[in-house]
Amino acid sequence: MRPTGRLHLGHYHGVLKNWVQLQHEYECFFFVADWHALTTDYENTHEIERYSFDTVVGWLAAGVNPGAATLFIQSKVPEHAELHLLLSMITPISWLERVPSYKDQQLKLNDKDLATYGFLGYPLLQSADILIYRAGNVPVGADQVAHVELTREVARRFNHIYGREPGFEEQSELAIKKMGKKVARLYNELRRSYLERGDTEALDRARALLGEQQNLSIGDHERLFGYLEGGGRIILPEPQSLLTQAPKVPGLDGEKMSNSYGNCIYLREAPEIIDEKIRTMRTDPARARRKDPGDPQKCPVFTLHEIYSDAATCQWAAQGCRTADIGCIDCKMPLIESVNAEQAEMRERAGEFEEDPDLVHAILLEGSEKARDVARETLDDVRAAIGLSH
Ligand code: SF4
Repeated sequence: MRPTGRLHLGHYHGVLKNWVQLQHEYECFFFVADWHALTTDYENTHEIERYSFDTVVGWLAAGVNPGAATLFIQSKVPEHAELHLLLSMITPISWLERVPSYKDQQLKLNDKDLATYGFLGYPLLQSADILIYRAGNVPVGADQVAHVELTREVARRFNHIYGREPGFEEQSELAIKKMGKKVARLYNELRRSYLERGDTEALDRARALLGEQQNLSIGDHERLFGYLEGGGRIILPEPQSLLTQAPKVPGLDGEKMSNSYGNCIYLREAPEIIDEKIRTMRTDPARARRKDPGDPQKCPVFTLHEIYSDAATCQWAAQGCRTADIGCIDCKMPLIESVNAEQAEMRERAGEFEEDPDLVHAILLEGSEKARDVARETLDDVRAAIGLSH
């Protein structure tokens, strides 16, 4: 997450709720992407540290648990930068130019000069962020799928160029034997099914089989993953997009909630401000007077009801709106209560971290050390594959 502003309800419902769920299902790495903030905000860096701290407190307030997931700041794990540099050597410029967000963002953020090397390369920095942990899944919204796709292409190209080693086949055959007769036979059968008949189910089963083998070295694992598909070693595995269905949270003006539109309800916002913001939030313009009926589908307040309220309340609001039985302030009251209740919990959870910033710094320090251990292992393999072990 880029530290370019305060966290708001859009971050919570769009991303953080999902993270809280994922941290119990996967080994998760969540980081504050401060280098990514520079790609668009390089002229305005004085708030990055404050926003980074505030972002992490927001995660903790939302229920992200440093005991379950690894939390850190990107620039504290410089291995990301080295992998980015190495990947930049093999990445064609055209691959970066055709990433859809490259042109889109340049048009949208036309008040900034984004004709920079860093901005062109930011999807590749994301690739390094992912590949350095040999991540299996990347939780993304639909607009980020193209970036994960680029990451897969870069990993494939890297493996293709550097995964070839002298005696690859002989070494793979030796590694197969190390798995024991029964597993080796099954591996060979599945590999043949895939290579001769294109049976992708067999490929998945063989991958799962390899995943279970404890007695293989990392090098043999990579070799046998590559051998399955007939190629070389897989040094950087290709990640998958973990597409998440997240509601689009409307801002106070009905546009998407975003710091750049100034239409946000922030996480841990004071109750009286939440009250004031929702009371004055835009509604269906057809309800100019109390007795005018409205259409809830044209009202951002109703979209918030769909996120916050139970079915009965939504039904009450929709019906009351269409018949003009309720006024907009009546309609907003249950919403104000729900948002306030949610944020009261977050304010309480955040309290101990706000009062003790050292606790947050200790969490980040521990997280970045843990992340570095994993990142260093990947980089050792990457350097060795390229021939830069020295
Ligand atoms: Fe929106 Fe509710 Fe007013 Fe209808 S009654 S316009 S849904 S705030």
